[in-house]
Amino acid sequence: MAEPLTVVSNMPVARVTPRPDGRKEVSFARSVPMPTYLVALFIGELDVLQDELDGIALAIYTVRGKAAHAQFAMQATKDILRHFNDYFGERYLLPKLDQVALPGGFGGAMENWGAILYNESLLLVDPQASSLRQQQRVFGIVAHEIAHQWFGNLVTMAWWDNLWLNEGFATWMATRTAERFHPQWRSRLRAALNASEAMAEDARRTTHPVQTPVHDDARAFDLFDAITYTKGEAFLHMLEAYLGEGVFRDGVRRYLRAHRLSNATTADLWHHLAEASGRDVRAFAAPWVEQPGLPRVDVSQRCEDGRGVARLEQRRFTLNDPQAAPLAWPVPVTLLLDGGERRRALLGASPIELRLDDCRPVHVAGEGYFRVRYDGATAQRLARQFARLGVAERQRLLGDTFALVQAGETDLADYLRLLEATAGESDRFVLAQAIESFAFLRNLLDAPRERAAFDDRLVRILRPPLARIGWSAQPGEDSEWPTLRAALIRALGLAGDPEVVREARALFAAHATQPIKPAIRGAVLDVVGRHADAATFERLLGLLRGATAVEHRWEFQSALRHATDPALRLRWWNLLLEGELPPGEATYNLQFAGASSDSAEEAWQFLLANLARVYAKASPRGRSYVLPEAASAFSDASRADELIRLTRQHLDAGALYQAEKAADAIRLAAAVKARQGKALRDWVAARGGA
Ligand SMILES: [Zn+2]
Repeated sequence: MAEPLTVVSNMPVARVTPRPDGRKEVSFARSVPMPTYLVALFIGELDVLQDELDGIALAIYTVRGKAAHAQFAMQATKDILRHFNDYFGERYLLPKLDQVALPGGFGGAMENWGAILYNESLLLVDPQASSLRQQQRVFGIVAHEIAHQWFGNLVTMAWWDNLWLNEGFATWMATRTAERFHPQWRSRLRAALNASEAMAEDARRTTHPVQTPVHDDARAFDLFDAITYTKGEAFLHMLEAYLGEGVFRDGVRRYLRAHRLSNATTADLWHHLAEASGRDVRAFAAPWVEQPGLPRVDVSQRCEDGRGVARLEQRRFTLNDPQAAPLAWPVPVTLLLDGGERRRALLGASPIELRLDDCRPVHVAGEGYFRVRYDGATAQRLARQFARLGVAERQRLLGDTFALVQAGETDLADYLRLLEATAGESDRFVLAQAIESFAFLRNLLDAPRERAAFDDRLVRILRPPLARIGWSAQPGEDSEWPTLRAALIRALGLAGDPEVVREARALFAAHATQPIKPAIRGAVLDVVGRHADAATFERLLGLLRGATAVEHRWEFQSALRHATDPALRLRWWNLLLEGELPPGEATYNLQFAGASSDSAEEAWQFLLANLARVYAKASPRGRSYVLPEAASAFSDASRADELIRLTRQHLDAGALYQAEKAADAIRLAAAVKARQGKALRDWVAARGGA
């Protein structure tokens, strides 16, 4: 290859031989045995940042001029690698660990042994321009990919049905490692938010067990989903707590030692954890991994002769699948007593009763992959005491109650009362749980007038939290407030809060001389884009065309995607079709066009009218997501049928699973609309209150 080019592969360079024609020949050391999916070779004009840890050579390669932005990832790599060398009891096996930041053409990260690949937006941190959220993202992904160097690379799943062993484990390890090095990030609460989304998928008809039989490679791609990653993670948090941290680690070490440079299955992991703990691990673990779905724990409380009795009972929880097979799980439940005392219980298929010293009320702690339903009196009392519950418990109560509404097991009014209570909330994780439900609820309203009234309610709930934390950082503030600030600005601005729109426009107007703070920049730009006139739209487009940093490119695209003015959004969609962006980015922007611009119907019609051109831009795999994502804001069952029909008509059978998942979500929304639509319309029409 030519002299200025750098080449990176799994193993270190063994030899560089100059050739008479001025080029060079590069040879690599012989690799250790590894699965073919980990083989990597990168060539380019690259800059490098180098370091070293305990004799392991570390390097991060970037395109020219960006190596300084790899400092944060390098420090994270050193912390993480040192910790893993200790935790796994097996040192990282190769003499070097390279990481490569690619500017485009590849969207995620891939754990190639000794030569991990990232899209640069997931690895680089510009100390001048990046947000705290970006640091958290980078730390989490680096920890995930480095965990794979053991779970996946040193020991490889025997077949795709054990994919969760790779992905669930790496995701669990990343959360745990972030907790260890950055406790102020409160990564477990973020994991709980993710788990809530996974539970929403897992409670539907289209779910699958964490460990799913895979009969051909093509189907394996569908398993890279929230069930495999997030339910896998949530289950491992429960398993570690059940066995104890030290015992769990000991079992993991035995497993890695026994299967290093070879394959393993879930059964092998149970075997070694059982050896380490002396307990029947399979009996605890198999129901979580081999059965689809999740439990709902019913909690009721009564008072007998001045002493309390808490009764716990479980059944399978589904959102829209009354015919689902009745299943049970071993559920570790932690009860919190008023006064802070904790009582642990393992709930099996039969109900259990816990005797308490007095009749003070109890509630369930935040951790654990299950939904909770309280008896009526307890539910009302908890709603009244909402502000006094812990953060994880407020987050759980909101998530559980919303899920019960979707399942038709409680009234929407119960959830709306909690939602109104979040006007007094300042915790980012609790508010995130609330904000997530707004989009689902809003999509249940068909008339523009009703949606506008809904936005007014949303503004009244979210204004007080933004007023409390303000637009700029306060000295010594909660480390998650910058992220919360961005979420509130975005939600309020997209809902049309005139004060937020005015402030966002002012920041944008001044941004050439006074850069917008990285933490809120994306949110401010989305608000500006949503309410853009033609001149603002052209300015945003000019900024996109001049942007080089990947983070900025995504932010300007997002801003343009949010434009809702009919002429402007059509101009954006046509630019995407005509090659304004690389094909992968164009496809992404087109499939989320409707959701971002609040015009799902118009975007849907545009996609259908230009479907061949859109599909030509998407990868064969990416095609199966285009219509399902675009249809996700619909709440009429007829659209679910249309989605399935179109998918059958235009794509092969491999695309059907994504369409069926999206169709099922639309039917769920339609069912909730039929049950709760009137209550929701009454709520948005009501004046006063929060
Ligand atoms: Zn992974």
